[in-house]
Amino acid sequence: MGSLDGKIAVVTGASSGIGEATARRLAGAGARVFLAARREDRLAALAAELGGGCGYLALDLAQPEAPAALLADVTARFGTPDIVVHNAGVLHVGTVDEFDLANLQPMIALNYESVVRGSHLFARAMKAAGRGDIINISSIGANIVSPGTGIYGGLKKALEMYTDALRIELAGTGVRVGLVAPGMTSTEIFEPMKAAGKEGWDTYIPALEPDDIARAILFMLEQPRRAKTARIHVYSGHEG
Ligand code: NDP
Repeated sequence: MGSLDGKIAVVTGASSGIGEATARRLAGAGARVFLAARREDRLAALAAELGGGCGYLALDLAQPEAPAALLADVTARFGTPDIVVHNAGVLHVGTVDEFDLANLQPMIALNYESVVRGSHLFARAMKAAGRGDIINISSIGANIVSPGTGIYGGLKKALEMYTDALRIELAGTGVRVGLVAPGMTSTEIFEPMKAAGKEGWDTYIPALEPDDIARAILFMLEQPRRAKTARIHVYSGHEG
């Protein structure tokens, strides 16, 4: 018997990295997992591999209407979700001379707005059901100041403030809210930096593996309902 047997779990950004590893962990614990991201071929392959009635929806979560579409689709096909892990995100960094400002709005739209929209909408549905878990993925970059990471880290910092407030707002409703902040984790998120020949992306190699973060997410979900594990920070050992 799995700790998440009978649960419906939505994982955004499930086509690679931390989201993919999380989907595997949650499915391994018995959840029926619903995957979301843009690359449909990867989602379809993972859903088929996980089996157990897992499903997926390919969509661009940076679009304002996407979180509502995701909630509507999973609810229609599976029922009200018990768990949502808002993990989809992009990394754009650069100093004042380097940062491509064309990336600013898309990063705000995905890394902050879509998580807020999704959290609000899933919270309303979960509150009506009297149960649920919302986990938002931040970054240790929210709390480490370094040249070129201020915009990305600042958005994660805003997400942390929002997520903490949501946790307090939903106290007593049966809906728990938690935040997991990964340290440097070896995923595709660094591919654009590598391709651009940017130095520094591998400062912390050997980094964490995606499954290290997935384990932390599962740990949070497996706590007794009375225990609200507000935050988990996972450091690679290089960062503090
Ligand atoms: P990956 O690049 O491997 O995964 C990012 C995921 O987000 C992919 O599934 C991608 O799928 C999805 N995604 C990107 N853009 C969109 C979009 N517009 N709409 C829907 N889905 C989208 O990176 P990670 O696994 O590393 O990142 C996951 C989360 O972890 C992010 O929020 C990131 O900020 C955070 N994080 C990562 C750290 C690290 O060191 N790796 C450290 C701290 C935090 P697709 O392209 O198919 O849409």
